[in-house]
Amino acid sequence: MAKIRTVLGDISPDEFGPALVHEHILVDFIEAEKFSRERYNREEVFEVMLPYLARIKNLGVKGFVECTPAYMGRDPELLVRFSKALGIHILTNTGLTRNLIFQNLLLSTQLINLQNYGSKRFWKELKTPILRQDS
Ligand SMILES: [Zn+2]
Repeated sequence: MAKIRTVLGDISPDEFGPALVHEHILVDFIEAEKFSRERYNREEVFEVMLPYLARIKNLGVKGFVECTPAYMGRDPELLVRFSKALGIHILTNTGLTRNLIFQNLLLSTQLINLQNYGSKRFWKELKTPILRQDS
């Protein structure tokens, strides 16, 4: 049985409905090794973005795919808050994006094989709720 994994859990594809397929709530383009959640205020992000997300819901959108990668602002806890507040389905992503800032991070942590690291992370995130992970 097909399913879609949202930030609040699995749903049937029939429940997803009209959706936006590539959105970003928050993106921080600082180098990955310098990224931290202390660089932004979750409450401020919530207050600023809530009216925009309420508007898309009112236009008939049932959900969206939030594509911000880890180490650039992916914040599953914030997405859970939006999803609960609006009753809208939100998907987040797994793995890492191919980008120089991530290569810098991997080199700095002594991980040489980018593809192998990305693959392991992808499978870990696929099997484990992203909320339990650190980025
Ligand atoms: Zn994008």
